[in-house]
Amino acid sequence: MAARGVAVVGVASTENPACVHGPTVVFERFLQDGSTRRFYACAACRDRKDCAFFLWADQTLSHTKRRLWADLYTAAWSKIPHRERYKKLKAVRRAAAGDRVYCKTCCVLLLASERESHLSCSLTTPLTDTQLAQPSTFLPPKENAKVEAQYLFSARSVEVLVGLVKCVGASGVLCVGAPRIHEALTSTPALRMASLLMDIDDRYCSFFPPESFLHYNMFNHHLFGGTAAHDTYLSFLAANEKLVLVSDPPFGGRMELLAHTLHTIEADWRTAAALDPQATLPVFLVFPYFLEAQVVASLPTLAMMDYQVDYDNHPIYSKGPKGMKHGSAVRVFTNQPLHALPLPGEEGYRWCEPCRRWVHHANAHCEVCRACTSKDGRTYKHCDECERCVKPAWVHCATCGGCRPPDHQCSTLPLGCYTCGDLDHKHLACPKRKRSVSSRESKKKKRKKGSKESAVPGSLADERHRDLDILAQLVDGK
Ligand code: SAH
Ligand code: ZN
Ligand code: ZN
Ligand code: ZN
Ligand code: ZN
Repeated sequence: MAARGVAVVGVASTENPACVHGPTVVFERFLQDGSTRRFYACAACRDRKDCAFFLWADQTLSHTKRRLWADLYTAAWSKIPHRERYKKLKAVRRAAAGDRVYCKTCCVLLLASERESHLSCSLTTPLTDTQLAQPSTFLPPKENAKVEAQYLFSARSVEVLVGLVKCVGASGVLCVGAPRIHEALTSTPALRMASLLMDIDDRYCSFFPPESFLHYNMFNHHLFGGTAAHDTYLSFLAANEKLVLVSDPPFGGRMELLAHTLHTIEADWRTAAALDPQATLPVFLVFPYFLEAQVVASLPTLAMMDYQVDYDNHPIYSKGPKGMKHGSAVRVFTNQPLHALPLPGEEGYRWCEPCRRWVHHANAHCEVCRACTSKDGRTYKHCDECERCVKPAWVHCATCGGCRPPDHQCSTLPLGCYTCGDLDHKHLACPKRKRSVSSRESKKKKRKKGSKESAVPGSLADERHRDLDILAQLVDGK
């Protein structure tokens, strides 16, 4: 998530200067005097300490700096070609489990006989066949919330997600930032689904061949492997008329950028597989329920399922003592008809006939709203005055004219202006926001940013503020 007062302006175009993570994105910063200034910054890293690239859009990148970034790119990614890294796996597989070593410091597979050159490194050994086929079971997760935010699905959630993909009748799955789905599909041939992993974590080069893993940045659709990687990507799309995309992006990532990527992939798939220009690429996108408005604003064909996605290494999103009280806050968003996507009864899901979809058992069907109204996993209650269902603990407040948490402060505006920080207005009404923008641009902004806030009734604001606090903690990695 970008800092206060910063907005995404454009998508990452190949015309933009590139950092180590491919083409940069144009952002816009609101300055103290109310004016704005645009700049290029990294598409993948949401903190400058992870990628230092910065350039004001009204300045040009000097030839020297351009060279420097090109050199940094080569130095970062071209040390050992993917094919070479993968070759080592064959040798390691031939060795006994006790002779197989993975160096977590250098991110390479080794044979026991090569240990001397890694004396001060951190090593993992022995390694079973299953571990080699499913490296996420032993690779230390990259939990930097501002870059990879690597949180791994529990075995149950992998099973449910694979089940959903199967329901759609996929012959091939594009796993964008979903290594555990790729591992499940590639190590279970009986599923008869091909899989291509596209992820920014290049450690997978040691475990999957260039035909099965592409080092990739989903926020600018950049393939680090150049034309060969692009050919692999297109051949996979061409071979799978029945393609499904599964993605579990970092929750702090920009949805506008991801939406653009998904549209690009869909268009590439239609062309590569010679499909109807209207053909819809089935998508399963994993994201928290409290960012539903943000998801739907950028990807209006997606609807939120009630399934609570569970993780192995996430203190807040997983079940257990540290988990959220009402189960995980993470859901699956899809453009597929919800009535065709059953959820497991043994995990407490049920079919709702009037809604024609599977919901969590705690999600009660409200006869007045004519819907199963819970979002967060608790049973909501209907408020006649508000004419909608609200969270169970909320009370209807006459002063505020809506339902609010019992401890709310009457008539204060909980969300301030993100342009100037004042609490008495939203950023769209900010007096400091005097600038000439083309009408198309301002309309776009209103739709993308404004809809999020204006779509939230005043009584929801407190709760939303809390959700955003949780999110801020998560993306700050606290
Ligand atoms: N739950 C998933 C993992 C999700 S964590 C599973 O178990 O398979 C987010 C994933 O997205 C990680 O694998 C991370 O490496 C990848 N990722 C993070 N930023 C990315 C980017 N900019 N481009 C592509 N992949 C990215
Ligand atoms: Zn970068
Ligand atoms: Zn219902
Ligand atoms: Zn209701
Ligand atoms: Zn009410």
